[in-house]
Amino acid sequence: MEFDFKFKGKHHCHTAILMCVDFRFNSEILKFISDELKVAAYDLWAFPGAAKAITDEPARELFLAKLKAVGVDLHSMEEVIIVNHADCGAYGGRKAFSSLQEETAAHKKDLEEAKRLLESSIPGIKVRLVYADLDEETEKVFIDVV
Ligand SMILES: [Zn+2]
Repeated sequence: MEFDFKFKGKHHCHTAILMCVDFRFNSEILKFISDELKVAAYDLWAFPGAAKAITDEPARELFLAKLKAVGVDLHSMEEVIIVNHADCGAYGGRKAFSSLQEETAAHKKDLEEAKRLLESSIPGIKVRLVYADLDEETEKVFIDVV
């Protein structure tokens, strides 16, 4: 395999993805981002609970500092795609919620909060939000832009 990336100095990567570490969702999420959102190249950041890297202290301070240093200063990042998913262990799993609607609403609220914090921390940044749901009977993953 041949790489033509330059590893010295600054180089441009338009998009950063912030997603959870959960192995059950990751290949489907990256396929969705490639096929549906047409994003072929990206920096990949993984943190349990994805949006929690930004909404939760003390993670926020370290994560935003690293995102600015690598994403903005080194790679001239212009966009972040934040992906949360259903039955996330960082949220206590599906059992932490009384209904699917409550679970989805909690994730969307956190995604929106992460977007707001990111936009105020990195002026001009474009933020897209994605949620991956899971049908437990079929174990099929459903992914959509929030
Ligand atoms: Zn998770």
